[in-house]
Formats: sequence, C-alpha cells, structure tokens
Amino acid sequence: MSDNIIIQGFESAEHDHRHCVADALSEAERVCTQRGERFTPLRRTVFELLWSSHKPVKAYDLLAQLALTHDRPAPPTVYRALDFLQEAGLVHKLESLNAYIGCGEPGRRHQGQFLICERCGVVAELDDEALTSRIDANARKIGFKVSDETIEITGLCRQCQVS
Ligand SMILES: [Zn+2]
Ligand SMILES: [Zn+2]
Ligand SMILES: [Zn+2]
Repeated sequence: MSDNIIIQGFESAEHDHRHCVADALSEAERVCTQRGERFTPLRRTVFELLWSSHKPVKAYDLLAQLALTHDRPAPPTVYRALDFLQEAGLVHKLESLNAYIGCGEPGRRHQGQFLICERCGVVAELDDEALTSRIDANARKIGFKVSDETIEITGLCRQCQVS
C-alpha cells in the first residue's frame, strides 16, 4: 500500500501528538483562508477538541466539554461550527458512531475509508481513489447517483490485537 493512500494510520502511542495538532491547525487556517472564510474562535475550539486524539468525538461529548468553558456556546452554534468544518473538509462524520474526526489531509478533496478499532476507538483514515472510482463506476452502471461514499470498517488495530 503506498503512503498516499494512508491519510492517518494507527499512530504509535509514543508519537508526538502536538505535531499532529499543529499541522492540523495550520492546514485548517490555510483551508479557511482559501475559502475566504474565518476560522472563528469557536470553530477553532471545536476543531482542537476533535483533534485532542485520533479518536472520533460524539457531538454530545463535545457539547459537554464546551459546557465546561466560560463561554458555554449554545448547542445550535456548536452544530453550525461542526457543519462548517465538515463542509470545508476539515472533519469527517462517522455515521456508524455518530461522531466526528479531524481529517489528516483536508487540502485534498476525498471520500475517506475509515478503519475503526472496536476496542480502543482509534480511527485510521484511508483514501483509496481506485476503490472510490470503482464504486462510482458500479453505481453508475445501475443508474445510482452517489452522494456520500464514506466507508466505515470495524475491527482491531495492531496494538489491540496483541494486548
Ligand atoms: Zn497524533
Ligand atoms: Zn479526510
Ligand atoms: Zn485499538
């Protein structure tokens, strides 16, 4: 498997996550500027909370964490921020978990394939364009118009298989 298929893998427990967060933040700022939109403090806070680990975060937990801050944003405002981030390609929504995860490569438009570890909850993100175009082609053959091609695969990450 070539590296450009893996957007984020199962990073080792020792990796310096601050780098992931710093990279994600600078990418997010770049994407917002490119779209002529503002990376508002709330959008940034929501984004940072989603990037606190490589595990997806449920909107409910996000709201609970935000409620601990002094500004306590109203839930609709938080949902709007999530919609914005999703639309900008900065986060993905995992429907099976009803949770959000920061995208490891938002600069390039893609439909992700997600490997979800059932034990530790960590998610890896793949972008296999060949797979996406095969799905597109097969759907077209039977006259189906695809609107969302996110694929969610459950299993155990390498670490959870040994422990
Ligand atoms: Zn990381
Ligand atoms: Zn992505
Ligand atoms: Zn795991």
